[in-house]
Amino acid sequence: MMRPRLNLQSRFQVVILGVLVLVLVVTALLWQRLQMIQGEVIDITGKSTHGLLAEQLRSSGEAQASQLADALANPLYYFDLDAVGILARGALRASDVEYVLVYDAQGRILHDGSGDIAAYGKPMNDALAPEIMAAAAPHARLLANVLDVSAPIRIGEESLGGVRIGYGLDRTNHAEARSLAALRASFDEVNQRSRLWLLLLCAVLASMALFGAMLLQRLLLRPLKILGEAVRQTEAGDFLSPIPESRRSDEIGELIRSVGRMRQSLARHDRDIRRVAYSDALTGMANRLAFREALEGRLRALQGVGQQLALLFADLDDFKRINDTLGHEAGDEVLQQVAQRIESAVLSIAGADILVARFGGDEFVLLLQQAEGGLGTSVHELAIQLAEGLVRTLSEPMLLHGRQVLLGVSVGVAQFPDDAATASSLLKNGDIAMYQAKMAGKNCYRFYSRTMDQAIERRMRMEHDLRGAWERGELSLAYQPIYRTRDRVLVGAESLLRWHHPVDGAIAPSLFIDVAEQCGLIEQIGAQVLLHACLEASSWPVPEGAGEPPFISVNVSARQLRSGDLIQQVVDALEQSGLAAERLHLELTETAVISDELHATELLGRLRQLGVRVWLDDFGTGFSSLSHLRRVQVDGLKIDRSFISDLLRDPDDLVLTSAIIAMAHSMGVTVVAEGVEREGQYELLRERDCDLVQGYWLGHPLEPQQFVDLLR
Ligand code: C2E
Ligand code: MG
Ligand code: MG
Repeated sequence: MMRPRLNLQSRFQVVILGVLVLVLVVTALLWQRLQMIQGEVIDITGKSTHGLLAEQLRSSGEAQASQLADALANPLYYFDLDAVGILARGALRASDVEYVLVYDAQGRILHDGSGDIAAYGKPMNDALAPEIMAAAAPHARLLANVLDVSAPIRIGEESLGGVRIGYGLDRTNHAEARSLAALRASFDEVNQRSRLWLLLLCAVLASMALFGAMLLQRLLLRPLKILGEAVRQTEAGDFLSPIPESRRSDEIGELIRSVGRMRQSLARHDRDIRRVAYSDALTGMANRLAFREALEGRLRALQGVGQQLALLFADLDDFKRINDTLGHEAGDEVLQQVAQRIESAVLSIAGADILVARFGGDEFVLLLQQAEGGLGTSVHELAIQLAEGLVRTLSEPMLLHGRQVLLGVSVGVAQFPDDAATASSLLKNGDIAMYQAKMAGKNCYRFYSRTMDQAIERRMRMEHDLRGAWERGELSLAYQPIYRTRDRVLVGAESLLRWHHPVDGAIAPSLFIDVAEQCGLIEQIGAQVLLHACLEASSWPVPEGAGEPPFISVNVSARQLRSGDLIQQVVDALEQSGLAAERLHLELTETAVISDELHATELLGRLRQLGVRVWLDDFGTGFSSLSHLRRVQVDGLKIDRSFISDLLRDPDDLVLTSAIIAMAHSMGVTVVAEGVEREGQYELLRERDCDLVQGYWLGHPLEPQQFVDLLR
């Protein structure tokens, strides 16, 4: 269940309202209590006044009655009714006296102050009579409206009767009521004043509460609201909407300023992060991320507008070589110079709006669009101009620390919407076109065409699938036995890489080695092959009749040779496997060695110093002459199987093979013939004194365990 949300302001209003109500209730209670007390005071005052007046009345009544009794003693003794009457009438004349009764010792009425004395001789038969008769002293009794006072009349010890005077209470009651009314009136006056004061107090309290609420609203709630809004904006990534300035010097003012500062610093960081995230640190160009965003934005804007775009995918040719030979710093410098040349090539194209980005490594991507208002040239023509400009400017020699460096660039162009409709496919097709330019001999440009797709896509997929193939266990080694020609004794094996693709099955090395070489993967795979082959070979048994343990011959690609890590990889493999150096043979292709003779000569020398044997593979297919062998010191050469296969048919091949064997032997170089598929070939080679032979006739490449079985 959701609890209704009360914000600070409404909570505060509720509290203030609560306090006000409480004050009102307390005030009302106090007021009520005051009224009650006043009532009680009036009540008590009334009672005490009443008692006081009654007492006063009683004592004066008693005094009057005694006085009258004294005066009546003689007339009564002599039974002088006239005198008694005079006295009784005199007493009755007093304004508050209601009745006067003179009675004899038996309680009979003798006189009541009237002329005819109608009650004469009648006994007093009211309720008080017996009590009065019995009293020996003046006696008072308060009845409802009358105070009855009696006094006995005596002569010496003899009782003659008594006198009774009834005082009417009306006057006293009136006086009492008057005084109480006066008291009430003065209380009312006091109440009136108190009520005013209370109202005033309530008004003051209410206005204080209102003032407090206003103050709180101004000082706390409003700034808090502003701060909350600012923080919400910041959270949403809006650092620019202004926060109202505050000149307050208190904590809130400080808080507002701090939040402002915090926002500025966040904005700065955000800018920095964006700069880092969206630009290439080395060249300052846009990076992959920025490019993709821009590309997607433009494609969205162009959808259905009928305008065209061209994407140029440029990849430097042989840039890896510069990194490998001159070092990464030089490589970085080259990239910076390349970036400058690209920028100036871009500037030279008129009527186009071009975005340039570096995609990392030696890849640059350009997005070309007709400039606004520049209608003259079509996007296709502009793309041709730009691609030509790039190829031209990047094939000019570059000066690097006084050294001339020759580069080149392969450019692929894909167009929107003709070639692709989305950013990803536009990039992919640009890449494919670039690949095609590489295939066409590099340093040129190619426009994407649909026919390019299949071949190149297969190749690219292979490259993709090949990554991590060793780690996934898809790559393995097979071993093809190598025999001594003279006695056909098994002396060693060549390790051959096998790829079992999870979907496509076995893939021929001639296909995937090429791909691995082009994308550089061969450097990692080659190192693994080397180590793995050495580990395996170290546990091989000595075959019968050989006299020494078999050697393992490992193929090394040209790229491994150039990378500069080969020596270390060989040292590591030998150390980890414990294999004797002379049992390791490295097969290098002729072309790899010639292409960088100086470097290769030095490297081969160092390998041979380690004790490792170096063989030239596929000998005869490259451009090397036998004289070449003198400069590049090798231990052996493998005559390519194209010569061996025609050995029986083509006399020229037989002559050439014989010459190679003779020359090699004169230089102390071992000769291996590969691709021996028939007995005749083998016999010929034995006649010509070829040292070692290898081929399907002698043995196919075997799985490791099968090869070990063969050795036994
Ligand atoms: P290669 O070094 O010249 O290897 C010999 C190739 O000839 C192997 O082909 C082998 O199976 C094949 N072969 C052997 N005897 C005969 C025969 O009697 N008739 C015919 N027609 N072929 C025979 P494979 O295994 O397909 O390897 C092809 C190439 O792939 C190798 O040529 C080598 O250049 C490369 N390669 C293989 N493994 C590796 C490796 O681990 N590293 C590198 N860098 N390259 C490798
Ligand atoms: Mg080989
Ligand atoms: Mg070969």
